[in-house]
This record gives sequence, C-alpha cells and structure tokens, in this order.
Amino acid sequence: MKRVLITGAAGFLGSHLCDRFIKEGYYVIGMDNLITGDLKNIEHLFKHENFEFAHHDVSKFVFVPGELHYILHFASPASPIDYLKIPIQTLKVGSLGTHNLLGLAKAKKACMLIASTSEVYGDPVVHPQTENYWGNVNPVGPRGVYDEAKRFQEAITMAYHTFHGLDTKIVRIFNTYGPRMRLNDGRVLPAFIGQALRGEDLTIFGDGSQTRSFCYVDDLVEGIYRLLLSDYHQPVNIGNPSEITISQFAEEIIKLTGTNQKVVYKDLPVDDPKQRQPDITRAREILGWEPKVSRQDGLKITYDYFRSLSHEELYKSKHRFA
Ligand code: UDP
Repeated sequence: MKRVLITGAAGFLGSHLCDRFIKEGYYVIGMDNLITGDLKNIEHLFKHENFEFAHHDVSKFVFVPGELHYILHFASPASPIDYLKIPIQTLKVGSLGTHNLLGLAKAKKACMLIASTSEVYGDPVVHPQTENYWGNVNPVGPRGVYDEAKRFQEAITMAYHTFHGLDTKIVRIFNTYGPRMRLNDGRVLPAFIGQALRGEDLTIFGDGSQTRSFCYVDDLVEGIYRLLLSDYHQPVNIGNPSEITISQFAEEIIKLTGTNQKVVYKDLPVDDPKQRQPDITRAREILGWEPKVSRQDGLKITYDYFRSLSHEELYKSKHRFA
C-alpha cells in the first residue's frame, strides 16, 4: 500500500485531497497545526483504518516513521486576510516548512508535490497567465509574505530536483472554491455567500472590475492527482479559465441565493491583482486535464454546504485572529 503525507490536511484543499487518496486506496497521514485548518473537515476520516492524523507544525523538524511514497505540501494560510494576520507563519511554512519536507522526501525517497499558486504571478501584466510568465510581485507589499514564500518554495523544490534528483511536482493553483471553505476567511466567495445568508449587503472591493477565474475543488483535486502521477517537473497551472469580474460574481451569488441583497463598495486592498485567468494549455497537453464542473453547478453545491452550517457558525463572522 502506498503511503502519502498530506500537510495542511485539515484545511479546505488538504481535506479534499485526503478524501481522494483514501478513495484511491492509499494510506494517508494527514498533518496540520490547526492554525487555519479545522478538524471538522477530516473527522469523518478518523474511523478509517488507512488514515491517521498528526498534529504538527511543519516549520519545525518533521518526523514520520515508516515508509513514505508521496508528500503533498498543502500547509499554508491561503487567504489575504490570513496572511495579513499571521505573516511570519506564512513565510515560515512556505520556506522552512518546505525545506523540512524536502529533506524528509529525500530521506524517504518519496515524491514531493508542492502547492504553489497563481500569486507567484502577482498583479500580472501578461493575460491569461502561462507558466512561462515570471510575474509582477511586490516583495514588501502585504501579499509579499505569501507570494515570496511560494516563489521561494518553487525555487527550493526545483533545486532539490536538479541537485538531488528528487522527484518533484509543482502545481500553481488558481482561485478554487467548494465545500469546507472557511466562512470567515475573507475570500470573496465565502464572504459573499455568508453576507447573503445573514441578510447583509455584499462588499465589493474597488469598483468590482477586477477579474478572477473560479475552479471547483473536485476539478482541482483531479488535476493534482494526475500531476502527481505524471513524470513532469515544471510548474503546471491548474484552474478554470472561465473568467468573470467580481461585480458579475456578486450578481451570480445574489441570483443563486435569491436574497435580493444590495452591493456596497469598499476600498480595494493594496496590490489586489486586477486580472487573473489561467492558461491551461500545459495541463491539457501533459495531463489531459481540463475542468468539468461549471460555475453554476459548483456554486450550487457550495451554497448548499454553507446553508447547512449552524446558526452559530454563520454568525461567527469575526475573523478567527481578530
Ligand atoms: N473581494 C471583494 N469582496 C470581498 C472579498 C474579496 O470584492 O468581500 C475581492 C478581492 O478584492 C479580490 C477578489 O474579490 O479582488 C478575490 O479575492 P479573494 O480574497 O477571494 O482572493 P484573491 O484572488 O485576491 O487571492
């Protein structure tokens, strides 16, 4: 039986990856320090004989007994609000954490896949973003702690590949959504749906003309699974190229929730990218992958998830670190 370590296992993406690997018949070790993750996301796996949980911060030395075939490094704060509140941890998990896990992968002769991000492109001047674009990142801006940690993460991962011959994979993840996103993480989708469910106005930052391209989580997980099993070592964009403005997105959420909410305009956060859309030619060619779930279908599933949350959860709107 193949054994896989998934860091950030209690988070949004990590928990969906744990589900997928269990389903595929792997033994899964889920690791998380629970700063932004939540055990609720994986409690259904605790009874599974092929799953174990390790409460650990990967910025510190990581020890895993026994064989390990794959490591998927998904531990990191990943929303702008999170990394503004915990900037040092964000830098450490992407840099020191990645170094520790690469060392572990080398010792175990495991394959290591890192979760990189469209944020490596910063506020992109090339559109849509291809993997060959080097990005437009402000290292000392508020997003710098995340963007630069992820850029360093790619660099050190590639160095382990070229210098140590480690089997490595780099996925650049674009905006992804689905059940288990944190209602209060500040991201636009949980923000809008939470506001609609509470009967509040939807907060559009800036004039709403900035664009994003939203990928449903199951599509993302499929792309990651294929990349892990491929023999490709350069970065691969995984995301849904269907691009919309944030204003249009607000309208879609209002229609979906049938709540007739108004929108209000707030200041645009510093260095907020004006446009973002993945060029997925590489993923199509190398992995035979493309997204399958339409925004309409994905949003419906996600809305049903948020609607099923308790009243207490819905009104716990204050940010966890506030
Ligand atoms: N945004 C917004 N209202 C909100 C939260 C976010 O208009 O309540 C905007 C944000 O400024 C950005 C986009 O929605 O332009 C996506 O933000 P998110 O934090 O989800 O992710 P990002 O793609 O910026 O990392």
